[in-house]
Amino acid sequence: MRRAAIANLGCKVNQAEMDAVERLLRVGGVQLVDARHTADLVVVNTCTVTSMADQKSRQAVRRARRANPDAQLFVTGCSVAIDPASLALADPSARLFDNESKGRLLDELVGLLEPGQGPVGDGFDGWADIERTRAFVKIQDGCSFHCTYCIIPRARGPERSVAADAVLAEVERSLAAGHREVVLTGINAGTYDDAGLPLPGLVRRMLAETQVERIRLSSIEPQHVTDELLAVWAGSGGRCLPHFHVPLQSGDDTILRRMGRRYDAAFYADLVARIRRAIPGVAVHADMIVGFPGEDEAAWGRTMALLRSLDLAGIHVFRYSARPGTAAARMVGQVDGRTKRRRAAEALALAAEARATFAARHLGGELRVLFERPLPDGRWLGHAESHVMVTAVAPDGGSLENEIALVRADSVDPYAADRLVGSLLAIQSPQEPLAESAPK
Ligand code: SF4
Repeated sequence: MRRAAIANLGCKVNQAEMDAVERLLRVGGVQLVDARHTADLVVVNTCTVTSMADQKSRQAVRRARRANPDAQLFVTGCSVAIDPASLALADPSARLFDNESKGRLLDELVGLLEPGQGPVGDGFDGWADIERTRAFVKIQDGCSFHCTYCIIPRARGPERSVAADAVLAEVERSLAAGHREVVLTGINAGTYDDAGLPLPGLVRRMLAETQVERIRLSSIEPQHVTDELLAVWAGSGGRCLPHFHVPLQSGDDTILRRMGRRYDAAFYADLVARIRRAIPGVAVHADMIVGFPGEDEAAWGRTMALLRSLDLAGIHVFRYSARPGTAAARMVGQVDGRTKRRRAAEALALAAEARATFAARHLGGELRVLFERPLPDGRWLGHAESHVMVTAVAPDGGSLENEIALVRADSVDPYAADRLVGSLLAIQSPQEPLAESAPK
């Protein structure tokens, strides 16, 4: 296999796995091309979170086949779990992999690499071996919350936790493979419970029993950000990163109730304040859904007012579209497309402003940045602990890949208002001693 394309429509959990697919292909010397160009293999990562997402997933499969009549076509992600028949109809020769078959997908990909192309036989050991900088470690899968707009409980099944020993072993494997940061992922990670050991306990064990340098949490429901979890974060000696992604979805209590969410706007506002008190300088990101059934102008106004008052570091905006099989799809008060588009544009403008404002607050400060990849102009791009993107030039035109460096934030990147340009002060070697001790 010489050329491959990835069409990625999936969510954060699948995103991590697609990053890993991309890395495997790159390691295997496969040229990655745009999905519209000729390729020997196309991997389509689908999403089923809304019916619009399902439709786009099917379109992506059809488009990939049209552009690549002779290619192998691999289709994965949540749409495969919910509606494999429609995808098979979109392209009868596509190979379908549901979420339980990701390992098989990886094995088959490795099998497509020509001898000497892949990491086969070089100790290759699953997803975590492929991404060099950040390891995405799944601690939990599934969800039993049944928010009224969400099909994920059907696609992923009820919540279940990965045993703590297995999580720690995965972290150790990632560190041995050279990863500098571990991102803990799960569909509903805050429900983590391994025989009475909750998420704060799991992170405590990770801090005490491994040398992991940076721990990030991919996303957590508001009611799961407990004082205990914040205490673990605050007492980790900087190893737990100051970044929380906490879905809000709406700032209107009636809409939150209709969504089946388990908190109200006041709880969320108080939570953001609690997180900030516990972890100064923390970045709080929110998800929001625009145009949920029943969202009138007053409800929308309350949501925007709350979002403005929260002064968040990032807002991820999703336009609601009815997903057959969910309670919300049958609700009265569906919002028309034009209104949804207008509200989404408003929310996206606020989101861009929030990201830029948060990034600018770092100017003049010193940041620890994990560098991931080069930009086309030769600068290196990485994430600071607060997840702000930072670019810097490597000394003598060398590589900064997988380096954690102390960087002074000098200016805002002229190409992206939410990105900083920094100058390198020092590079931290992986062997340097980390935090003094794990929190008790
Ligand atoms: S918490 Fe709600 S939105 Fe999140 S996966 Fe579970 S049902 Fe879906």
